[in-house]
Amino acid sequence: HCDTDDSPASFVKNPTIKFTKLFINGEFIDSISGKTFETIDPRTMETIARIAEGDKEDVDLAVKAALQAFDHGPWPRLPGSERARIMMKFADLIDENVEELASLDTIDAGKLFTMGKAVDIPHASSTLRYYAGAADKIHGEVLKMSREFHGYTLLEPIGVVGHIIPWNFPTTMFLLKISPALAAGCTMVVKPAEQTPLSALYYAHLAKLAGIPDGVLNVVTGFGPTAGAAISSHMDIDAVSFTGSPEIGRKVMQAAAASNLKVVSLELGGKSPLIIFDDVDVDMAAELAIFGILHNKGEICVASSRVYVQEGIYDELVKKLVEKAKAWVVGDPFDPKVQQGPQVDKKQFEKILSYIEHGKREGATLLTGGKPLGGKGYYIEPTIFSEVKEEMLIAKDEIFGPVMALAKFKTMEEAIERANSTRYGLAAGILTKDINVANTVSRSIRAGTIWINCYFAFDNDCPFGGYKMSGFGRDLGLEALHKYLQVKSVVTPLYNTPW
Ligand code: ADP
Repeated sequence: HCDTDDSPASFVKNPTIKFTKLFINGEFIDSISGKTFETIDPRTMETIARIAEGDKEDVDLAVKAALQAFDHGPWPRLPGSERARIMMKFADLIDENVEELASLDTIDAGKLFTMGKAVDIPHASSTLRYYAGAADKIHGEVLKMSREFHGYTLLEPIGVVGHIIPWNFPTTMFLLKISPALAAGCTMVVKPAEQTPLSALYYAHLAKLAGIPDGVLNVVTGFGPTAGAAISSHMDIDAVSFTGSPEIGRKVMQAAAASNLKVVSLELGGKSPLIIFDDVDVDMAAELAIFGILHNKGEICVASSRVYVQEGIYDELVKKLVEKAKAWVVGDPFDPKVQQGPQVDKKQFEKILSYIEHGKREGATLLTGGKPLGGKGYYIEPTIFSEVKEEMLIAKDEIFGPVMALAKFKTMEEAIERANSTRYGLAAGILTKDINVANTVSRSIRAGTIWINCYFAFDNDCPFGGYKMSGFGRDLGLEALHKYLQVKSVVTPLYNTPW
């Protein structure tokens, strides 16, 4: 037996699906209706498993458990250090099961296995540890009252939280939402995207093993208009944190307003510009620009989907971009040599192809790609359009696929104006050696994250979220902890009680 194959072993490629039911009050249970839905492998377009389909009555049950755990359970009352200890254990269990978790995200979302194992999942456990470290450092302030009163603030957990998450980063999104809420002492209901329910249920199982008390973390799998809408309109949910499209974000906010005015935070995607000035190393710039759009097959809200290149290096850079896009390896996400797996599902696949058709019709120049790979699976060629104008649909809409929109600019002022001509404001990249240009552009772009001479530089300590129609509220950083905390002011007379 000679094993020279460096691809993952077959047990990793064909993981046993252990968890397919709703996780409510510490138990895996069927949905009340008994209904299930299929989750599909985008590589083969075949069903992986049938998953319990939660609806309003299941969300009610989960919220009841979360409310009970909040009002009467230990979690919000534990010393922060004790919540931290349990969260650290949860993080260790994630690390111990990294291969299986990475494998679930690969078959469910078409994500690269090696990336999941080396980056996404270790980062997700580090997010839990980051917030565990904050759990015993949550405190208010003593107030400088203007009269003879003693005043202070208490920071209290906001209550029952609803998290509605998308499919592009099933692991990252799950941990990024629950970790600060757990640290704050909240209890919660999570609805994973219907395309990618597998790892979320596995995380629920690990949370229980780690000792997170029943009812604190509930996972209701199901669809948006049913289970998702039941969360945003629930009368006993105090805050909802949503990541997804602007269209659905608006619905979540409307439902929150129409029900109990729950606190809302929205992270709604982007059309992020990468501005490349002509003093940079062209190879490095091409590398970053390609990675910025093709990483995770373009299914990433901060993808550098609009690339503005200064005229001095335009021709040289475009040549390199096209070379790199052509050399980019698309195929089975379990293969360690592959750089791009299949798009998550049929709907996304068709949506991306229809944007590509729009681009051609609108008069942009298709430099490379533009077609599906053919055969089984939702694979699309890395695609680059040049001569893209801001009014074209491919420059306006978030395509969420491997499609770059390129344009040439002359001056910094022009680049700023064009970069800002979008209704989104999630992120932007600036490549230049000139510190004055970097400073001016970073202050002029209306976006929540600016990366200078880097891209996708995420960190647990770095708040992340949008300006404009990319939403409001921040994930990550200590900012995110405050989404899940209430400020209570307590006031008492300082010397003698006047009555
Ligand atoms: P995408 O376009 O990336 O699929 P969506 O905004 O459609 O993003 O979905 C993000 C999340 O929102 C998913 O979990 C989805 O099920 C959920 N969702 C969809 N419709 C609604 C809705 N009407 N109310 C609440 N959640 C919803």
